Amino acid sequence: MIRNGSAAPNQVDRRRALPSVNALLELRGVESLLERAPRAAVVDAVRTALDSARSGALVPSDDDGWVAAIEQSLARAVQPSLRPLINATGVVLHTNLGRAPLAPAAIEAMTRIAGGYSNLEYDIDAGKRGSRYAHCASLLRELTGAEDALVVNNCAAALVLALNTVANGRGAIISRGELVEIGGSFRIPDIMERSGARLIEVGTTNRTHLEDYERALADATTAGAVMKVHRSNFTIEGFVAEASVAALRPIAEKAGVPIIHDLGSGLLIPLDALGLTGEPTARDALRDGATIVTMSGDKLLGGPQAGIIVGERTTIAALRANPLARSYRVDKLTLAALEATLALYRDPERALREIPILAMLGTSVEALRQRAGRLRDAVGPLASRSDIVESEASVGGGAFPSARIPSIALAFDKNAAELEGRLRLGEPAVIGRVADEKLLIDLRTVGVGDDAALALALGAALHGAP
Ligand SMILES: *Cc1c(COP(=O)(O)O)cnc(C)c1O
Repeated sequence: MIRNGSAAPNQVDRRRALPSVNALLELRGVESLLERAPRAAVVDAVRTALDSARSGALVPSDDDGWVAAIEQSLARAVQPSLRPLINATGVVLHTNLGRAPLAPAAIEAMTRIAGGYSNLEYDIDAGKRGSRYAHCASLLRELTGAEDALVVNNCAAALVLALNTVANGRGAIISRGELVEIGGSFRIPDIMERSGARLIEVGTTNRTHLEDYERALADATTAGAVMKVHRSNFTIEGFVAEASVAALRPIAEKAGVPIIHDLGSGLLIPLDALGLTGEPTARDALRDGATIVTMSGDKLLGGPQAGIIVGERTTIAALRANPLARSYRVDKLTLAALEATLALYRDPERALREIPILAMLGTSVEALRQRAGRLRDAVGPLASRSDIVESEASVGGGAFPSARIPSIALAFDKNAAELEGRLRLGEPAVIGRVADEKLLIDLRTVGVGDDAALALALGAALHGAP
């Protein structure tokens, strides 16, 4: 036993007489850690445990306590930085939490491709070099009615590539009502200027008319594009007016200028069945007259992070030929996951069932209520500190900003902040939401397969909580 300096030492005495690094390394429990982890990592873990005891954490009272503290430091040091967690925020497409979880089919496709070689840029039939851009193009054509398609790293990259290709050194006409910030300090006007296009702002924040575009197209003999941006994360109401893509098409065509429609969230099928209406699908946007449409792969489409560009053949060909395309090129795992996700959309019913974010959005409140009941049962007596309450989930990720989705949560109204921290720092981390001094664990965003882990995490966090 390591002596802490007094017969019945209190915390202060123990802190004054902390054991040495070497003494701790000689403990049997610590020696056995050396068989599992490199010596340097164990020494670091010993130092971390000593540091935290020195700086005010509880000082272990015996050898077992020290071994446990050192084991915990070691576990923390070797755990990966990027790790799974449970999203109990009720925000389905949470950008901070990785947006869309992938469908099983997409995960299988990635696994199939990840460990070996593939025909990423090889045409097997012809026996010669092929193009990585061939892989998702035909599915995207089929699902959107587009003449051609191109996939890059994300929608922001898609926008820069599109504008740089058609409007570099020329003007891009955009309504002042669409100069939006998407989040994480990503602003449409900034990204437009970086692409080399000169911003030609028309209209006002609340009203932009067709004539505003007409005037700009007539003045600016150098206009390279008309840009429409979907207001993803807010709505404007009241005295408002905007020119639709359908109305813009004839005047843009007359001026020989393409229309780039940034949809943001990539809807491939209408989601009216889920009570979500009013956002155009990519097919609608093209039919309305957009020359090209840009959208994200990991928002409502429910696939991997990607920027999808669909539209007219000649414009897509020009984008593909732009040297910048090389710096935004998408990797094989993304293409594998995207192709498998897109394939699910061939049968919309199947897409709604198997694409996790669509399944989450489609779960009935009654089903969530039953899960909440089972969750409380699994947690046991400590669950009596919670109530099953009605809550409101949201789509997030810049889609259907005003949709409030009825949901069910476990609500803890005692020591909400403390409990939030315990759950967040547990393994796996559980991220809830604190509102009105209550901690809400919203079940709409918890994967069905995570219920058991969530019950364990809740049990552990409640155990010994004040
Ligand atoms: C989200 C969004 C983007 C950016 O998409 P990423 O795939 O995150 O780069 C661009 N435009 C709009 C309208 C968006 O909603």
